Amino acid sequence: MSFRARLALVAAAAVALAIVAASFAVYFIVKDQLRAPIDDSLRHSAVDIQHTPPDDILRGLFHLTAQLGGAPGYPQVVKPNGQVIAIGSRTTPLPVDDRDIDVARGQSSTFLRDAHVSGIHVRMITFPVGGVAVQVVRPLNEVDHSLSRIETWLILIALAGIAIAAALGLLVARAALAPVRRLTATAETVTHTGDLSQRIDAGGHDELARLAASFNAMLEALEESTRAQRQLVADASHELRTPLTSLRTNIEVLASDRTLPPGERERLLNDVVEQLGEMTTLIAELIDLARGEQHVAEPEEVRLDLLAADAVERARRNQPKVTFITDLHESTVHGVPSTIERAVANLLDNAAKWSRPGENVEVGVDNGAVTVRDHGPGIDDEDLPYVFDRFYRARAARGLPGSGLGLAIVRQVARAHGGSVVAEHAEGGGTRVVLRLNGASNNS
Ligand code: ATP
Ligand code: MG
Repeated sequence: MSFRARLALVAAAAVALAIVAASFAVYFIVKDQLRAPIDDSLRHSAVDIQHTPPDDILRGLFHLTAQLGGAPGYPQVVKPNGQVIAIGSRTTPLPVDDRDIDVARGQSSTFLRDAHVSGIHVRMITFPVGGVAVQVVRPLNEVDHSLSRIETWLILIALAGIAIAAALGLLVARAALAPVRRLTATAETVTHTGDLSQRIDAGGHDELARLAASFNAMLEALEESTRAQRQLVADASHELRTPLTSLRTNIEVLASDRTLPPGERERLLNDVVEQLGEMTTLIAELIDLARGEQHVAEPEEVRLDLLAADAVERARRNQPKVTFITDLHESTVHGVPSTIERAVANLLDNAAKWSRPGENVEVGVDNGAVTVRDHGPGIDDEDLPYVFDRFYRARAARGLPGSGLGLAIVRQVARAHGGSVVAEHAEGGGTRVVLRLNGASNNS
């Protein structure tokens, strides 16, 4: 059964239940209201008769006065031995049972009950008067007739109500589920066409509008990530083509011209080895980037100061021409050590690359942040906004080795750790880059 049908059914069932309950209540109230006057008039008759002298009663000499033109009722006297005395010329006997005889004997008090006399539904009162019991009945057929008409009407009204409730339930369900249908249609279109630019009209502030808005946001995120992936692949193939072309040229020269002077041959071979090395690095960086936010390892508590000390140690070995000065304070962050290490290494690599021989590079760690500052030429203002973009290299950098992926990786690591990275001019010249990793423990 569809959700819409279920919703309609539940709505209709709720309304139907209310209608049926109301109908029952109306029926019983009306029944009570119709029968109460009859019981009242019977009790009145009883009081009337109780004023008649007992001898007259025994001889059946009494008659009932009608109240306000109503029916006077039909009486009968019951002796304690069960014998009945008919009143006037009437001959239809009223039913007598043990309780009536108990009343005649004075063992029971006045009571009312329903009975059938010659097939007629009646209401009967039995009460004691001077050693006998008197029964008075009044027919209930008018009341029964009214009640049965009311019953028919109530059933018809209830049925109509239920039908209307079902129809309205369907309409309500259809209206309520229209946004869900639109959502489904869009999701299906996206599935079939792979077109992530689809959006749903998410007007309003209700739950479904919020669902539509989240769905749109999800599509947007997906679209953005697909776009980023395409961009990465496009950029990467473009970047790989340049070193591949020069590699190819070098190898072709080496292969075709066997008369190259040994010095030239040596230089070309060195070039080839260097270019291969660069390409290897580039490919490794690309793989890192492509892995993106998907965590390769489980995050853990990382001592940032110790990690930085290791990275500096390695940088010292690789870059003996610069002097690394450290100021490391104990600091713990929650993160993936290998990726943080990579980011710090990239920062140290840049600082060393842009320092002149003998210059200092200052590395600080404090409160979940790594600061690397060099005394090189600094980054031009026009380059500053772009240095974290993939493959971006300032004009001045074009002559130096590198692919422009280092800082992009740093930014990716920072984001994956809920942190940030900024590059700025350092006072007195040079560049300062601050990598801030969130999740720094408070006690650090
Ligand atoms: P890769 O790191 O991929 O080998 P790269 O160092 O050129 O190449 P990034 O580390 O992303 O690339 O840096 C991007 C650009 O930012 C650099 O090309 C350079 O122009 C500029 N840059 C980065 N760090 C510094 C620095 N410490 N001083 C001056 N310029 C810098
Ligand atoms: Mg770099």
